[in-house]
Amino acid sequence: MTNTVPTLTLNDGHTIPQLGFGVFKVEPTETTRIVTDALSVGYRHIDTAAIYGNEQGVGDALAASGIDRSELFVTTKLWNDRQGTQSAFDAFDESLEKLGLDYVDLYLIHWPAPANDRYIESWKALEQIHDSGRARSIGVSNFLVPHLSRLLAETDVVPVVNQIELHPAHQQPEVTEYARRHGIAIEAWGPLGQGKYPLFDETVVAVAAEAHGKSPAQVIIRWHLQMGNIVFPKSNNRSRMAENFDVLDFELSKSEVAAISALERVGRVSAHPNEVN
Ligand code: NDP
Repeated sequence: MTNTVPTLTLNDGHTIPQLGFGVFKVEPTETTRIVTDALSVGYRHIDTAAIYGNEQGVGDALAASGIDRSELFVTTKLWNDRQGTQSAFDAFDESLEKLGLDYVDLYLIHWPAPANDRYIESWKALEQIHDSGRARSIGVSNFLVPHLSRLLAETDVVPVVNQIELHPAHQQPEVTEYARRHGIAIEAWGPLGQGKYPLFDETVVAVAAEAHGKSPAQVIIRWHLQMGNIVFPKSNNRSRMAENFDVLDFELSKSEVAAISALERVGRVSAHPNEVN
């Protein structure tokens, strides 16, 4: 078993590190310190968004790190109120400037915001940004099957990923299976359940943790990797960042994976995609 972060090949041929670091709810003033810590732990894939208000802090940490751009994978996202054509171009330019980058590796529509009915128009804008080379890959987030199927029917480029709320207690089989069937990789946000559901206390998680000499969080992150999900757990704390990264030297058995998958039960811990507009 190798200790390097596995990569997945996306449907456009680019590769993505399967394990990264997310910065939702990381305070703008703390972001540079926190992302600097994450990079020093070994993370090279950073997931941010315009709405997080911390792209500048991410960019400052990346610049200060001296890490070659080719080793980094940076994702940001278009917020709902910038959906459209020119507004999406402008929002993308602003994100790129705050990040201090010439290109992002992945640009996402953050939510379908169906009540506004602009995600098809926005996707066409992302297709143009993609053509310009300033977003190497483009994808979506929080899309349900009706949003994905409409997108596939009405536009040219298939999203490389759909970033959705996903953890053992809420696995979204319908959208996951649909996405995989169309070559769309799954990024699992809230991979640890955002601390809102006591996943760590589940007996099967605790038993697997004990068996492998790992923590419950490590077992859950490992479950995601073995399920084929891309994950970027967030932590403000350097020792938990290191803990979450230290998941590459063990493997859950098939029965452990199955037992954790059987935890599906609570539904989403966060907002429904049709309600975020
Ligand atoms: P996570 O499931 O990653 O949970 C983060 C919480 O778990 C924090 O409270 C953190 O606390 C705690 N935590 C982290 N590691 C450990 C550990 N080893 N042991 C115990 N507690 C731990 O939730 P997120 O919502 O942050 O999801 C991850 C990323 O997904 C986000 O940062 C963001 O990039 C993305 N995301 C995308 C969304 C979208 O709509 N596309 C929506 C939400 C998230 P502490 O910081 O104190 O360690």
